[in-house]
Amino acid sequence: MLTSTAVLLLMSSAYILFEYLTFREIARKNITSLGLIVASNSSAALAFDSPRDANDVLNALKANKQISIACLYDINGKLFAKYPQTIPSAELPAKPKVSPYYYEGSFLQGFQPVMQGNTQLGTLYIKRNLTDFYAQMRINVLIALLMIVISSIVAWILSSILQKSISEPILALEKTAKRISQNHDYSVRATKAGQDELGSLTDAFNLMLAQIEEQNRQISNANEESLKLAAIVESSGDAIIGTSLDLTITSWNQSAERIFGYSAEEMIAQPISKVLPAELNNHSKTFLNYRDKRDEVNTYQTQVHTKSKNLLDISLTISPVKDSAGNLIGLSQIARDISTQKQNERLITENEEHLRLATGAAELGTFDMDLVNDIMNWDERCREIFGITHTNPLTYHDHFLTCLHEEDKERIIKSLEVAYNVKTSKGSYDLEYRSKGFDHKLRWVRAIGKVFFNEKGQAVRSVGILMDITSDKTEEIKKNDFIAIISHELRTPLTSIKSYVQVLLAKAKQEKDFFKINALTRAEVQSNKMAGMIQDFLSLARLEEGKISIDKEQFDLVPVLSNVVEEALFVSSSHTISVNACEDIRIEADKDKISQVLINLVSNAVKYSPPGSSIIVACQKVDGKVKISVSDEGIGISVNDQKKLFNRFYRVEHEKMKTVSGFGIGLYIVAEILKYHESSIKVESEEGRGSTFSFVLDTIAT
Ligand code: ADP
Repeated sequence: MLTSTAVLLLMSSAYILFEYLTFREIARKNITSLGLIVASNSSAALAFDSPRDANDVLNALKANKQISIACLYDINGKLFAKYPQTIPSAELPAKPKVSPYYYEGSFLQGFQPVMQGNTQLGTLYIKRNLTDFYAQMRINVLIALLMIVISSIVAWILSSILQKSISEPILALEKTAKRISQNHDYSVRATKAGQDELGSLTDAFNLMLAQIEEQNRQISNANEESLKLAAIVESSGDAIIGTSLDLTITSWNQSAERIFGYSAEEMIAQPISKVLPAELNNHSKTFLNYRDKRDEVNTYQTQVHTKSKNLLDISLTISPVKDSAGNLIGLSQIARDISTQKQNERLITENEEHLRLATGAAELGTFDMDLVNDIMNWDERCREIFGITHTNPLTYHDHFLTCLHEEDKERIIKSLEVAYNVKTSKGSYDLEYRSKGFDHKLRWVRAIGKVFFNEKGQAVRSVGILMDITSDKTEEIKKNDFIAIISHELRTPLTSIKSYVQVLLAKAKQEKDFFKINALTRAEVQSNKMAGMIQDFLSLARLEEGKISIDKEQFDLVPVLSNVVEEALFVSSSHTISVNACEDIRIEADKDKISQVLINLVSNAVKYSPPGSSIIVACQKVDGKVKISVSDEGIGISVNDQKKLFNRFYRVEHEKMKTVSGFGIGLYIVAEILKYHESSIKVESEEGRGSTFSFVLDTIAT
């Protein structure tokens, strides 16, 4: 707006000035030629001295309204004629002058000599009024001013309209730029107003913002990454040492401080040789010289001295550090303290040596079976036990099964199937069997093994030891035979004693000899106890020899329970023994063996609980099976003892146990008999509170 106004102003001024100057020039020329005409017309009047004619000539000037005054002087300078005639002479110049036309105030005036030939007859004076010119000039100036005002208004209207499309997008851009610089938020974008140059400017601006934002993101990612990396380096359990190309330390993390004992301040700018032995220092140098192999990562194991002069086993990994252009700029040296690992390795070697000595001394063989590929790694002793003299590879089927005694084969295959099945396996096994060996020698072998399963639950490996127990087993067999013979031999006289006692007791009862009745009743109880013991020994011997036979029959359970309780009450009246009546239940089992189990459990309950306390024999139907239990209020069994209770000859070491007789075979027999019935014995007990022994048997529908 200002520019256009200034231009208009200048233009108008120049135009008015031009008009002014042109007008003045034209006016001067006009008056000059008018003067010449009037002067020539007046020459005759002057020559003939006729003022009337002169006044007529001057009067002709009436036609020109701008000529306000004119007069003629004769040659003597005396006023000869004047126009208008009414004008007082005082208002006219007193004398003619020799002067060209000139401007004075708002008039143009001048003198013109009146000539006839070369003779001057007088002088003409003409005065022109310039008011019309000034009026015209004023109009011109007014028009110019008006034009300027109108132009300015038009310019203002136009600029306000244009401003919207020009300055608004620029202002919006400026606002966006301000917001970004204040908040450092480069995700802001300027709004594009149109497809013109400003639109392109907004696009360019937004593109620049997008690039800045992307750069910022990359920078912040890189910062984050380097912070993470720094945190990892700092928190790493390994010493991470950065070195420059001349092997000067540039970074030293906390673990480096911990492992080597030197602080970062002490080590930064020091040569790496200060902590690493010369040999590793040389490795680093070689590494740097090996330009072609600089991507390689090298790991070494060595020993270093810490600040406190301790000798430390470390593993050192040297790897290249490169800049973004891929140029090698240094080395990263990662040192791991492997003292414990080394110590463990030494211990393992020592332990292996001890194990080797121990197995050698105990004549134990060790085996490691690959169950997937059916490969058996048997050591020399194992091979010896199986009479194998060669060192060729061995397999489960060709060697192990071939060596098994026919009578043991089925049992061992079954036991191993259970051990190798993740659902039934306890993870280990302890088996005894006979091997006939490739040297045709019969041996008793005990194998204790551990089974390893893969993530799919498949048995993949079994390791363990093997021992030749032939001599122990022979001894045991002899002992069992002896027990069996003795028990068998004792049973016959004991049966006679029992019948004599019963006859005598019946006689004493008839005679009402109470002393005899009492003594003979006791004798009967004791002989019954003795019979029970002999029965147990016989059962044990049979079990050991695997000669026990199970004769299953169908029978009602409740009468059996009642019989056992009655017998127990006959032997001992010191306890309240009751049957917790359950419905009629029929089972299929070896009646005598199940009775033996119950007799053992009830007699234990009597033995290990105080007189006067109660014992309950109960049965309960659970999921189509029957759970039979014997509970007492006796001394109870510790958790630790509960685990060993069913082992052969195990007796709890307890102050109160010393007065109670027994051999620790009753529960073993119970457990074994139940195994033959696909069942097992369970115990729940609390010391000082009593115990409950229970087992579950299948029932048959009645
Ligand atoms: P024995 O009774 O001849 O010693 P058992 O094999 O029958 O042998 O029992 C093994 C051990 O279990 C016993 O010595 C005893 O310590 C413990 N025991 C068995 N039954 C009970 C029970 N009802 N209460 C407490 N302890 C028991």
